[in-house]
Amino acid sequence: KVVSVTGASGYIASWVVKLLLQRGYTVKASVRDPNDKKKTEHLLALDGAKERLQLFKADLLEEGSFDSVVEGSEGVFHTASPFYHNVSDPQAELIDPALKGTLNVLRSCAKVPSIKRVVITSSMAAVAFTGKPLAPDVIIDESWFSDLAVCEKLKLWYMISKTLAEEAAWKFTKENGIDMVAINPGLVIGPLLQPTLNTSVEPVLKLINGAETFPNITYRWVDVRDVANAHILAFENASASGRYCLVGRITHCSEVVKLLRDLFPALKIPEKCADDKPFTPTYQVSKEKAQVLGVKFTPLEVTLKDTVESLKEKNFF
Ligand code: NDP
Repeated sequence: KVVSVTGASGYIASWVVKLLLQRGYTVKASVRDPNDKKKTEHLLALDGAKERLQLFKADLLEEGSFDSVVEGSEGVFHTASPFYHNVSDPQAELIDPALKGTLNVLRSCAKVPSIKRVVITSSMAAVAFTGKPLAPDVIIDESWFSDLAVCEKLKLWYMISKTLAEEAAWKFTKENGIDMVAINPGLVIGPLLQPTLNTSVEPVLKLINGAETFPNITYRWVDVRDVANAHILAFENASASGRYCLVGRITHCSEVVKLLRDLFPALKIPEKCADDKPFTPTYQVSKEKAQVLGVKFTPLEVTLKDTVESLKEKNFF
């Protein structure tokens, strides 16, 4: 079976490609620059890559760029989208590639009758930012959709990019009769396959790497291997539909620091919070739909251990 993955060099996509190859698929994978070894070497080294991985050059903002990537595929995993914090022009750097890029990929898909399903990597960024107050008894689920006005007020550009892209994807796929499933992960951590540091693993490196304090933040953590697996389950399972929130555990950094100190006492991770404001109220994210799909969430302790060991192995600290 032939499937396509956009943005294959990325952190999550690399795991999607690895698991797809493991499961015997032939993978047509898009990268922006096939000659950039830092972006491709780890993919070409995967088991099965020699026989069943083909790399294509494609850019989200180039019209028709994905035609050859998705041609002849049964499934398309659209993961490419910029994810970083320090942006000077959010429209050009985040929103246009996310929104126009998603429609660009879907327009290519609409031309290919062999495609049975498109799985897009959306985010909790497109779910959780509704302005509704959060409290320990509040359960966020797939029926929530981030509110653009709320995000704009808070200048949450990445959240805006993911919300606009997912909204537009639902509209386009409905109008064009494409079967789509969206995966909405929280903050993804776990071992890296690529040689460079990605945005979502950075907070873990910051906790272990020299900062004197930890931030007063609660994150929605999820393991990258669970996220990649969920993408494939969403394609393989005919009854999968709609969106899937993926959050293994919601935990304040203070709790994560405790876990890391127990796992790695030699690292001497500081125990002091960066401010003395009360910790943000915690809440829940429903796991029900993801579990019905077959996702088994890796315990946070295991994910943290594997993340730190991977960062060490790749000489990030
Ligand atoms: P990475 O930064 O590792 O991957 C992003 C990918 O998008 C890269 O392959 C990048 O290509 C590609 N990309 C960016 N801009 C363009 C463009 N103009 N044309 C073509 N490709 C482009 O991040 P992640 O793996 O974390 O993110 C993958 C997806 O998962 C994104 O859609 C992100 O929004 C989503 N997500 C991530 C979460 C996380 O915590 N990591 C949580 C929820 C959702 P290049 O390598 O060439 O830069």
